[in-house]
Amino acid sequence: MKKLTKSKVVTQAASASVLASILLLTACSGGGGGNAASKEQDPSGKVTLNFITQSSPLAPADPNEKLINKRLEEKTNVHINWKNFTKDVFVEKRNLAVASGDLPDAIFNADYSDYELLKLAKDGTIIPLNDLIEKNMPNFKKVLEQAPEYKSMITAPDGNIYAFPWIEELGNGKERIQAVDSMPWINVKWLKKLGLEMPKTTDELKKVLIAFKTQDPNGNGQADEIPLSFINKPGAEDLAFLFASFGLGENPDHAVVSNEGKVIFTAADEGYKKAVSFINELYKEGLIDIEAYTQDWSTYLAKGKDQRYGLYFSWDKANISGANDTYEVMPPLAGPDGEVNVTRTNGLGLGRGKMVLTSSNKNLETTAKWVDQLYDPVQSVQDNWGTYGDKTQQNIFKFDEAKGMLTHLPLEGAAPVELREKTSIGGPLAVLDSYYGKYTTMPDDAKGRLDIIKNIMAPKMKAENVMPSVFNSIEELDRLTTIETDLFAYVLRMRTEWYQNGKVDEQWDDYLKELDRLGLQEWLKIKQGGYDRATKK
Ligand code: CA
Repeated sequence: MKKLTKSKVVTQAASASVLASILLLTACSGGGGGNAASKEQDPSGKVTLNFITQSSPLAPADPNEKLINKRLEEKTNVHINWKNFTKDVFVEKRNLAVASGDLPDAIFNADYSDYELLKLAKDGTIIPLNDLIEKNMPNFKKVLEQAPEYKSMITAPDGNIYAFPWIEELGNGKERIQAVDSMPWINVKWLKKLGLEMPKTTDELKKVLIAFKTQDPNGNGQADEIPLSFINKPGAEDLAFLFASFGLGENPDHAVVSNEGKVIFTAADEGYKKAVSFINELYKEGLIDIEAYTQDWSTYLAKGKDQRYGLYFSWDKANISGANDTYEVMPPLAGPDGEVNVTRTNGLGLGRGKMVLTSSNKNLETTAKWVDQLYDPVQSVQDNWGTYGDKTQQNIFKFDEAKGMLTHLPLEGAAPVELREKTSIGGPLAVLDSYYGKYTTMPDDAKGRLDIIKNIMAPKMKAENVMPSVFNSIEELDRLTTIETDLFAYVLRMRTEWYQNGKVDEQWDDYLKELDRLGLQEWLKIKQGGYDRATKK
């Protein structure tokens, strides 16, 4: 009851200020020019809209030179007058334009954070989209019907939707591409050279790493092998994957959800303590890269390229040791209790603040209908990756018009990211997992990773739930940011000390007290509240 009253007040305050700023803008603005929202229609009935956007420096400076946008203009009879900035300066230019009050009709590829969206909504710069979606956007509504979980994730705590989202699914549930962030890659050439089996338990892993250290598997007569390397901070290069053999495991945001729907802080769990002790055992044997605590990406990469690691961690081995057969993924290991587990990370292909409409927009229906075209499946796929039939450059796809299906073409040595950045437009879109095989094929670089997750990782995932992408209130975001700054830094510092000094058992109780002092209980309460809201049917 209390919650309802509060959000009603916020909504009223927001719409009052929307009105105020519309009046103000109408009063002040004389002619056109600048970023200003457009009002006129030309005699042909073509509407012109003014958008601010960003793109890669590899892409044409004028987005209308992209074939996708040319086709869109023809199809919709809407001309977009773009003000395009390269990624490096976009945030600054975007913020300047908004602060000047000379607002465009919309900001495309806006990439606003939740906090920014709520602030802009509160001061009336951007408008709620619920009614526009309901009345003008059949394609988008269909996406939300097919994947209803996104509805709550894009809805602010006051019940409004303030931005059109970007949604990219590759696999779903336990098999989605983000389900495991940090993959363990083991040197199978060294295993073979030393006549060793792929380790199946944490004990066997320790023995394998000792053999890597002491038996010269690269055969150069020197003890130059690095049995185990990682970058000691939350992310895909961390060794957190190993933690799951001892319990719930660990992931970059320190949150997992029990099968009963309870949010748990990973770094206060008993299994976490055992995992840290195990890493200390590896440390005492001299198996850990001495640079693990200090190295940056380029140092990590240099040694990885030279294939000096026995075991290391990354999203994809191609990024570090190359796309060759020297390394293979190490399947999840049984811990001391014989249990095998893989922790699911909470990552998701969702960009909540992808496009906003401003209070200066006088063509809201036309704009909404234009945006709705972007949520057509075949359109979304192209906007995300690139298009077909471009005679001036390499294409990502060929298109079978009869079937309405896009097929990825061979890259022929082109870097996939570069080709995508030149030809795609990004923006609000949805590529759902159900589209593969129906509207498009899957990109090759995603397929290999999805196979590993499906066949090796997903069958060992014990958790049935993950943290959804929760849309917190401004007050909650303020508190979470404040608490996490100190709490997460403390967790990392203690973990690092314990890896090296092994005092985790004797210091554990004091550590738990300090976590509470730093706000852990409030953090859990906010997280649990968000989880409950987002999963409520
Ligand atoms: Ca050697």
